[in-house]
Amino acid sequence: MKSLPQIVVAIAVLSVVLSIVWTPWIAVVVLGLMCARLLFMVLRQETAAIELLQEPAGVRRTFDDALNIVRVRLKEGEQSLKDRDAEIAQRKQITNAVPDGLFLLDDSGRIVWCNQAALVMHSLDAFRDMGKPIAQLIRSPEFAAYLNDESLPEPVVTSGGRTILFHLERGSAGARLLLTRDVTDRERLDRMRRDFVANVSHELRTPLTVVGGFVETLTDLPLDDDERSRYLQMIATQTTNMRRLVEDLLILARLENDQLPPETAVVDLSHIARDVLADAEALSAGAHTFEANIAPLKISGSANELRSALGNLLSNAVRYTPTGGRISLHVFADAEKNDIAVEVKDSGVGIAPEHLPRLTERFYRVDRSRSRETGGTGLGLAIVKHVAQRHHAKFEIESVVQGASSGEHGSTFRLRFPASAST
Ligand code: ADP
Repeated sequence: MKSLPQIVVAIAVLSVVLSIVWTPWIAVVVLGLMCARLLFMVLRQETAAIELLQEPAGVRRTFDDALNIVRVRLKEGEQSLKDRDAEIAQRKQITNAVPDGLFLLDDSGRIVWCNQAALVMHSLDAFRDMGKPIAQLIRSPEFAAYLNDESLPEPVVTSGGRTILFHLERGSAGARLLLTRDVTDRERLDRMRRDFVANVSHELRTPLTVVGGFVETLTDLPLDDDERSRYLQMIATQTTNMRRLVEDLLILARLENDQLPPETAVVDLSHIARDVLADAEALSAGAHTFEANIAPLKISGSANELRSALGNLLSNAVRYTPTGGRISLHVFADAEKNDIAVEVKDSGVGIAPEHLPRLTERFYRVDRSRSRETGGTGLGLAIVKHVAQRHHAKFEIESVVQGASSGEHGSTFRLRFPASAST
């Protein structure tokens, strides 16, 4: 629309032209009619604008005021649209940050919307799969049944190695919100916990049954002194085994829950090595030949943890090496690998390759009866693994099983501490 000054100039020019072309009175009539029309338009637009803006009664504004107000309102409208866009973007960001899958389903179970996690968890495509029935995309009889009857227990479906929990929420107008949660890790931890409790119960029940049996025999039967002392000795052995098991469990629990050892604590590795070697020689009671090559090295870490790890490696070497075998302990700085290594080597029965990856699992044993006979708890190498991790060390195991080749058999267990740990 043209502005008011432009229209006034146009009328003035027109009046001059008309006075020249027509007689003045015709020009006056025509111009009068045009002015009246103009006045009518201005008044009508002003009233409409003011009505549109819903000004309170009694307030009169000019047409320019009204236009200014319209401009301000338009700007406010634009700003509120921008605010809404920002709010929508923020909500999208939040729903995409949720680790659970979220689907909005219509009353016939078609996908109206879903977040990023839902796409990834169920391998869906945002464009291809939108609007499709969810039961066609997530194929599971338990889920399909739950979709039709929400009173059924929430299904937990395992597919492609992942375990997913489904939960439906009713919305308005038949819409439903479907939440899908990946519970694979939670299930694995639950299973580990159950297995662990079952293992510990089993490990304790065996010696307890033996002790119970001997106590009954001692109580019920008339035994001579020799028999009595033999039975008491067996009870003492089983009690020692149970005490060892409980001690190892407590060590493991502490290793798993405690903070890392302080990096400033200096540990004399050679001192610890000599101590545990003396214990191993006592355990062997002359059944093995020992060899030691211990460099005077210090590292930062926990003396108790390192003593426990080396003690387990050496006691294993003694227990799994038949009489007459050789056991060596080597502590050295490996210039080639740029680290500090502690190596326990034996000429014992060795371990078949298929067992090696599982050796550090709790209660994993290659030879169950030998482990039990020699008072093993099945936790020694699990403790070594944890100590290694806490000291940023590598734990290496190499073994050649007896009879596998004509060469030397036996095992080597090695801890490699980073050179940065040396002090
Ligand atoms: P355990 O208390 O049964 O010895 P560990 O965790 O210390 O438990 O060791 C796990 C298993 O690894 C043992 O049961 C044994 O079968 C095997 N093992 C450990 N050290 C040796 C070794 N030096 N020689 C042969 N087998 C070994």
